[in-house]
Amino acid sequence: MQLEDKIIHYTCDELIRVSIALTRNITETARQHHHLSPVASAALGRTMTGALLLAGDYKNHEGVSLRFSGDGPLGTVHADAFDTNKVRGYVDNPSLDIPLKPNGKLDVGGAVGPHGQVTITRFTPEKTTYTSQSDLVSGEIAEDLAYYLLTSEQIFSTVSLGVLVERDYTIAASGGFLVQALPGATDEDLSRIEANITQIGPITTYLRNHLEGEGLIDIILSGMHYKELFRQNAYWQCTCSRKRIENVLLSLCEQDKKDLLKDPQVEMTCHYCGAKYIISHDELVQLFQHN
Ligand SMILES: [Zn+2]
Repeated sequence: MQLEDKIIHYTCDELIRVSIALTRNITETARQHHHLSPVASAALGRTMTGALLLAGDYKNHEGVSLRFSGDGPLGTVHADAFDTNKVRGYVDNPSLDIPLKPNGKLDVGGAVGPHGQVTITRFTPEKTTYTSQSDLVSGEIAEDLAYYLLTSEQIFSTVSLGVLVERDYTIAASGGFLVQALPGATDEDLSRIEANITQIGPITTYLRNHLEGEGLIDIILSGMHYKELFRQNAYWQCTCSRKRIENVLLSLCEQDKKDLLKDPQVEMTCHYCGAKYIISHDELVQLFQHN
């Protein structure tokens, strides 16, 4: 049976927050929708996992968008998480194939590029948005996110993200964790967690051997007192719909609307999921007349 993807949040005396995300199905779904190459799967899987971890970390935030715009051949990596447990994403160049790193691992940093920016927008339930940006550190995603959290949101964190791709390109493991130090956390706690984390080894290997992430929190917070806050199943989902496409068309200026009416039909494809929306000339006339 296929295991469900999950996002689980823990707290350690209200001073440390730990979130764990298991995202194998989400990354596999993205791979199939976008025909991703292995390195594109790894970059997008890590980014979507990071988005899920950030979306659930504050109860008052409704969603988060991540954009990794590096100078590498993959182009921009886009991921949106919303409702705390749903995520979608795409990359500009999904079929990119580049050589493995000397250690045999997928070269995500080389694909994304070491120079550029990560841009993060948080959406609140009141529909307020906050956008902030920081420079990329390596393009490997996890350390770029940690650097972003420190420089833009003043949060000390450890981020670990990993995607393991099989020889047939299917996703064997995907997931990661985020440890955040809240104000009041001591240096002693932080160095203990740092030492604990080195016991995990590569996160992809750990997740392949522990498909439900079992035991991971016990290692991260070994020797500390903690409790689970909540857990949810997590899903790949797109927010596109015919209604949204119609609203985009309605928001166009009069000249653009006139130009569209010259065509026999309008075809629009959602970047995030590849869904195609076809609106016939007659439907377009109706839409513009009645709105
Ligand atoms: Zn879509």
